[in-house]
Amino acid sequence: MEFIQPGSWAEALAVQAEMPAAVPLAGGTDLMVELNFGARRPPALLDLTRISELRHWDTDGNQVRIGAGVTYSQLITELRDKLPGLALAARTVGSPQIRNRGTVGGNLGTASPAGDALPPLLAAGAKVEIASVRGTRWLPVDQFFTGPKKNALEPGELIAAVRIPLPSGPEQFSKIGTRNAMVIAVAAFSLALHPDRHEVGTGIGSAGPTPRRARQAEEFLAAALAEAALWESRARLPDAVAAEFGELVAAAADPIDDVRGTAAYRRHGLSVMARRTLAWAWQDYQHPQPVTRADHDGAGYDEGA
Ligand SMILES: Cc1cc2nc3c(=O)[nH]c(=O)nc-3n(C[C@H](O)[C@H](O)[C@H](O)COP(=O)(O)OP(=O)(O)OC[C@H]3O[C@@H](n4cnc5c(N)ncnc54)[C@H](O)[C@@H]3O)c2cc1C
Repeated sequence: MEFIQPGSWAEALAVQAEMPAAVPLAGGTDLMVELNFGARRPPALLDLTRISELRHWDTDGNQVRIGAGVTYSQLITELRDKLPGLALAARTVGSPQIRNRGTVGGNLGTASPAGDALPPLLAAGAKVEIASVRGTRWLPVDQFFTGPKKNALEPGELIAAVRIPLPSGPEQFSKIGTRNAMVIAVAAFSLALHPDRHEVGTGIGSAGPTPRRARQAEEFLAAALAEAALWESRARLPDAVAAEFGELVAAAADPIDDVRGTAAYRRHGLSVMARRTLAWAWQDYQHPQPVTRADHDGAGYDEGA
């Protein structure tokens, strides 16, 4: 197996164009497992770790641009104020070692339905920046996942970054696992309130062939908040609205029974997580200076529902 270590992004794109079968390597926390188990035997590995610009994030107008090589540890330490939903999700990933190596680009590249960075990216309305020698394109993240562990990258393309609108309201994340750490999600849910445009964003993980939005739930909640002028008043959220939101999120899932949980449990868990994250987010919205759960506790997610 050839091992190629480009020193620049332009070089990496040129290699990927010449050798589309070369497999990019970022933190290696997914890829090395596959190689070690013999699940994959690519002719070449394209090591991206020497390309420093991939490890940087920056604000660009009202967006944050996160390089594909930014790690979970960076999200937690450097971006928790700007992108609290993504930082909350990052805190639930693996162990400190995995969070130091694992990247957002790698989570997108693997495109697992259980990728923990993916629900907050969906809820936030992120776009994936995809590059090749032919140029750059931006794809809404909800169009990036094409099937279980399949994504929309064409031969010769690499993930350069992800672009996330700066939140105008609170964001929350919740994950059910069979234990408190080092756990693949049984189900996960992310919520973002967008008061600037009176919209709601959602992301469901581990409950369908791909991470997905709960569009009907988003529309229902946005309409309910608008009808009762709650965006403006920030008054108490009616229980019936939260309950219906939970049911609509559960209905948007398409889970399976597997070793980690049954489809019925996943649906139930999602309805609970949707209600809870909405309660937390609404509480944050009611406070003049929103406080995220990351400020309150160390775990950032619930076990069990
Ligand atoms: C012990 C353990 C615990 C884990 N726990 C969690 C968890 O709790 N939650 C979770 O979501 N994940 C978890 N993972 C999975 C993994 O850590 C994440 O998916 C991580 O984000 C992968 O990032 P990476 O940089 O290591 O990717 P890599 O392994 O380097 O790459 C992953 C895939 O993405 C592709 N890729 C990488 N970068 C690019 C790029 N720039 N352009 C195109 N394709 C690219 C690679 O070719 C490969 O197919 C765990 C893994 C381990 C080993």
